[in-house]
Amino acid sequence: MTAQESEAHVALLVSPGMGHLIPFLELAHRLVHHHNLHATLFVICSGTSAAESLLLQKSSAVNIVPLRPSVSLDPTANFIDKLKAIMSASPPLLRRSLSTAKPRPAALIVDLFGTWGLAIAHELGMLGFVFMTTSAWFLSLARFFPTMDKKMINDHVYNHEPLRIPGCSPVRFENTTQVLENGVYDDFELMARELGTADGILSNTWQDLEPTNIKALTEIETLTCGKAGGVPIYPIGPLIRHAEPNLESEVLKWLDRQPDESVIYVSFGSGGTLSEEQIKELALGLELSQQRFVWVIRPPVDTDSSGTFFTAGNQSGDDKWPPEYLPEGFVNRTKEVGLLVPTWGPQAEILNHRSVRGFLTHTGWNSSLESIMNGVAMVTWPLYAEQKMNAAELTEEVGVGVRVSRGLVSREEIESKVRKIMAEEDEEGRRIRERVKALKRSGERAAAKGGSSYNSLAQVAAECDIFRRQTQLRRAVAA
Ligand code: UDP
Repeated sequence: MTAQESEAHVALLVSPGMGHLIPFLELAHRLVHHHNLHATLFVICSGTSAAESLLLQKSSAVNIVPLRPSVSLDPTANFIDKLKAIMSASPPLLRRSLSTAKPRPAALIVDLFGTWGLAIAHELGMLGFVFMTTSAWFLSLARFFPTMDKKMINDHVYNHEPLRIPGCSPVRFENTTQVLENGVYDDFELMARELGTADGILSNTWQDLEPTNIKALTEIETLTCGKAGGVPIYPIGPLIRHAEPNLESEVLKWLDRQPDESVIYVSFGSGGTLSEEQIKELALGLELSQQRFVWVIRPPVDTDSSGTFFTAGNQSGDDKWPPEYLPEGFVNRTKEVGLLVPTWGPQAEILNHRSVRGFLTHTGWNSSLESIMNGVAMVTWPLYAEQKMNAAELTEEVGVGVRVSRGLVSREEIESKVRKIMAEEDEEGRRIRERVKALKRSGERAAAKGGSSYNSLAQVAAECDIFRRQTQLRRAVAA
């Protein structure tokens, strides 16, 4: 038996996008360093994002195998359709990599866009898991979807009735996920069906963050069904990228010069973009709020709120500074209190800085967890994908932020929401800040050795190891 065969080997498959890659890297890292498994991360690369390339170069602690399917993308398609096109060209690459791997991994872990990989895993005699990098509420929707009455779906999509997920809060149409908003949900339905064939679903959440949704996922029959006996759910979060100690960066040096808890950090994730009109309102709103700010800023995209999903971290090529799309004189007027960071910033380190108190965020699930785990209250500004569900949950149920209204957000509203989160004297803001700090502590307990999420991941690792031993035994008996 080789050294490799004495410990279970797990393969992970991640679709393009920093919001997928970052938590998958963290998962692979934990499987290796906390649970003694071998891990290989197959990364379906966009090949077009500087942030993605840099992160892959820096992630030497995990064995990474890039997969590059050849596909020509329709430049006018939305990011979900582009993702689907890339993923649908990927099965032969994964099949070849897995079937030639020695030893064959005991399990494959995929994300929601890679659920077709479960059939490949099963065909090759491996376990197949899904790691959902979203909330348990969104997972409940995905679990319920295949058994949902078509009339109920159509009432939601066309008549804008709330979607009632058993045991969970209903999804109001104004908060619905992008696929249902667009009314084209066949692929989502297929992914949701494939999800039901998994040997287990890992969810980036923890008990105290989403107790009701986790309870529904584990106890209500319409959500647990799929495979005979139900699909086990493993809440393994918070799984976030931690701040790199001693990272050198201009923005961190600037933050070092600011008082404690005095700065609002403004960023819309890896893909989020705003129209020129909205960027101007945001700038003027920040100025009116008179708060210190760090703003990760990108050129406007008027027709697509996920404009940099495949080009995260790329510089715009337009070296004009200050950019023409900002209000006249804004940079000069705010230079003592504000810092603009073009296109990409070290978010884990910024949120971890002692001077940051608030986060104006698009509520991607990773950003939301990073905010909570740094005790930073949020102004939520959802843009696309399932972000409206996240914003509703974070503000109405979890109580860790305030939300901006839909449509064009005015400078006055931005001013007042930013102040609410930042100002010492605002009673609601104070309650939100206390709540986020309490949740941070509960997340730390869940992830620490012996905590509920640590134990959940240990259980997954144990399943993989038992499966490896059983496979070896079967092979030995057959030989
Ligand atoms: N991120 C970052 N710097 C940026 C923007 C984003 O490091 O300037 C990271 C962020 O910390 C998070 C991920 O990119 O881990 C984005 O994931 P999220 O789920 O929040 O949003 P998405 O980009 O998928 O919409």
